[in-house]
Amino acid sequence: MPNLDEILGLLNRVGAVDINRLPLAPNGPPPPIEGDLSANVTPRVGTSSLHVETITGTGEDGHASDDLSVDWIRLASGDWDLCAELDELISADEPVNTRVAWETAAWYQQIHYYGQNWGIFIDEKAVVRIANQVLLKYLAAGGPISATAKKSALAAAQAMLFTHEVFHHRMESASIRVSAIAERSTYPEYHRLVYKEARSLDEPLEEGLANAFMYREFGRRAPGLDGRMSKAAQKYMLASFKDSAPGYRLATDILGSFEYGRALRDLVGRILNRSPWHDSDSWHAEMALALTGALFADDRIPTFMWTAGAANPFTPPLRR
Ligand SMILES: [Zn+2]
Repeated sequence: MPNLDEILGLLNRVGAVDINRLPLAPNGPPPPIEGDLSANVTPRVGTSSLHVETITGTGEDGHASDDLSVDWIRLASGDWDLCAELDELISADEPVNTRVAWETAAWYQQIHYYGQNWGIFIDEKAVVRIANQVLLKYLAAGGPISATAKKSALAAAQAMLFTHEVFHHRMESASIRVSAIAERSTYPEYHRLVYKEARSLDEPLEEGLANAFMYREFGRRAPGLDGRMSKAAQKYMLASFKDSAPGYRLATDILGSFEYGRALRDLVGRILNRSPWHDSDSWHAEMALALTGALFADDRIPTFMWTAGAANPFTPPLRR
């Protein structure tokens, strides 16, 4: 069983973090976002301008700027009442082409950069917007609209976002294992020289893989959904990948087992080498796949719903 203090001690010793500089506040500073706020703009190739480090608001969204007063914890507990506010918001009458940017809907705060404040953060407004889109697909397939359908769509949206972020935790887990074995800093170099230095529209590779992981794992992580809602969620994901930001859109090409496996070897090779240059078909990369299991199980990853500009502890309903 991993222990966060021991992990931080190791990372400090190998120079991968400076524990004296990690944020101390319970919820940390305003969180970073994964990608660019202006996701609709095609970025320049070969620059690191795809990524920004801080966010001061909750990003663009199609709803009123008022924060929702949803009690996500109660919603996620056994009596999952759909409050009137949510009932109204998830009405399946959004324009069909409303796109939700994966890069701002949720994010992962790395152990390396946030210490005790690491974890998965999910923007509640993004959950509602994705649920809306899933519900539209569900209705289009003949599903009846009801409170149950709306709750299922919400659960599907939460499961998607959580699963995407779990992939990022897995890649940080791989880098921590490398640091433990080789006694060297790994993640910050990978993050700076590979993740943030995307050279093509297929990068960051980690985002394409996170989306593909989300799609491939969805059935297993959302087992309570009825078949029609599950299909609607998968349809939504497929449609959204195509016009997603660079990196994120790569998912479309790597959903199959062969392509996914090859891309994952490629990414793990980049993490091992802390460089985009490596032999992805080498047996090193093949063996390194065993490093990519999550250091912390789903229910041990601190998870928060980002609402009203603050992080609220939250347990996604479908991961128990
Ligand atoms: Zn991501």
